[in-house]
Amino acid sequence: MAYNFDKLYINGHWCDSTSGQFIEVENPATLKHFAKVPEGNEKDIDLAVRAAHAAFESWSQTELSERIRLMKKMLEIFESYKDQIIDLEVKELGAPVSYSVQSHCVYQFTRTHSYIECAAELPLEQSLAQSTVYREPIGVIACITPWNYPLGQVVQKVVPAILMGNTVVLKPSQHTPLTAYLLIDAFDRAGFPAGVINLVTGRGSAVGDALASHPLVDMVSFTGSTKVGAKLSQRALESIKRVSLELGGKSPFIWLPGADYEKAVGKLFDSIFLNSGQTCTALSRLLVPEEDLEKIKALLLKHVPDYVVGDPTDPKTKIGPVSSKAQFEKISSYIKLGLEEGANLLTGEIPTSCANGYYIKPTIFTEVKNSMRIAREEIFGPVLCVITYKTVEEAIAIANDTPYGLNAAVFGEKQKAIEVAKRIKAGNVYVNDGPRDVTAPFGGYKQSGIGREGGYAGLLEFTQPKAIFDRSTF
Ligand code: NAD
Repeated sequence: MAYNFDKLYINGHWCDSTSGQFIEVENPATLKHFAKVPEGNEKDIDLAVRAAHAAFESWSQTELSERIRLMKKMLEIFESYKDQIIDLEVKELGAPVSYSVQSHCVYQFTRTHSYIECAAELPLEQSLAQSTVYREPIGVIACITPWNYPLGQVVQKVVPAILMGNTVVLKPSQHTPLTAYLLIDAFDRAGFPAGVINLVTGRGSAVGDALASHPLVDMVSFTGSTKVGAKLSQRALESIKRVSLELGGKSPFIWLPGADYEKAVGKLFDSIFLNSGQTCTALSRLLVPEEDLEKIKALLLKHVPDYVVGDPTDPKTKIGPVSSKAQFEKISSYIKLGLEEGANLLTGEIPTSCANGYYIKPTIFTEVKNSMRIAREEIFGPVLCVITYKTVEEAIAIANDTPYGLNAAVFGEKQKAIEVAKRIKAGNVYVNDGPRDVTAPFGGYKQSGIGREGGYAGLLEFTQPKAIFDRSTF
């Protein structure tokens, strides 16, 4: 395969970083450094942005049908990299192979297919009383992505941005940059014109900042923490760039009185424990009727052993290590904090050593008050907070009492659950076993973000409306 982890991809070529420096990529299960990527710098960013800017002129004028044709070709090549993608996510993220196949790989193909289909159907022209409104591309898009779904977050931005006629400079997370190389390789082989997509790896504070403030960048599409997103937006707004933010969450899961709790456990644990809890949409606050707490505790304890922690290459493993030492330390300190705040540790422990990998057992706190820091802050690990409520009104109030609003779920009688779902301030709310919809808009209320990804909304995000008043008399 033609990809090479020690290069950047700028203006249609694999090239060296002008820094001559590299960042090591660690396997969180073995603690071994197994790859390295260039530590890009401001100069590399400038070259990449200028290439994207130059390519925009003709790419934005290319027929949508031609953009779709090239994207289909890219996807065909990309799908042939399935085994390498799975292997790299096991190594760079520590994601168990059982989880990597679907969530980190096949679902990303599904997403790309979906964007291609939606782009073909999307109305990009609208006739009004005295005008025609056209959706036009925005320009150079800086795509800055996190480490927790290394490929997913990249696909969510790069594919729709390019389909809509924009050009891209991608900066993946320095912790998990490798699968992005496979995607770029597929773009390269599909024959996209030089400059349409560019890859610069590097540290957030240097490369990310340079991208957000570069005068030729027209939009910053960022996924990551609320703290960095806020800072980055300030830089971007100094030159009035468009900003799209996909940020953190502290998502509630309401179990309504009388719900079949047994049926809800799988959804809860998959959400908070898989990917080692490092999922922005993780249902990290479980809201249960006070009178059923003891029954629910027993139910949770019964199912925890199903979530086997261990070597991510073992097909039986459901929970691998967390992604880095920093993550290990952060999550450990939150578990310690939970005890200090007076919550009850139903299961789990304060991890003591990470000498054999950054492993953290599934952790459940009960007797949690929504005012505690463990219930308000994003822990981003396999840590569940169980909070009791007396009435459904109180459950809704607790669910909404958070700075975030990314995701939520309600389990119970369907009509009642839908009523409750409508009152939750979050961009996505799941009802019972309702499946995910790849074409639905994804994004947050409140401090969980600005803008939407996925399907039609995700494509429109990378366009801007232009009205031409064309009903002239001659
Ligand atoms: P992060 O904010 O630390 O980093 C995200 C990206 O920004 C990385 O590429 C990083 O290198 C870069 N960056 C860091 N500091 C920067 C700076 N000062 N200037 C410019 N760029 C900078 O987030 P993370 O730890 O990689 O990811 C975890 C966070 O991402 C969690 O909060 C999670 O909820 C969030 N997330 C949100 C979504 C969503 O769709 N809403 C999806 C996945 C992850």
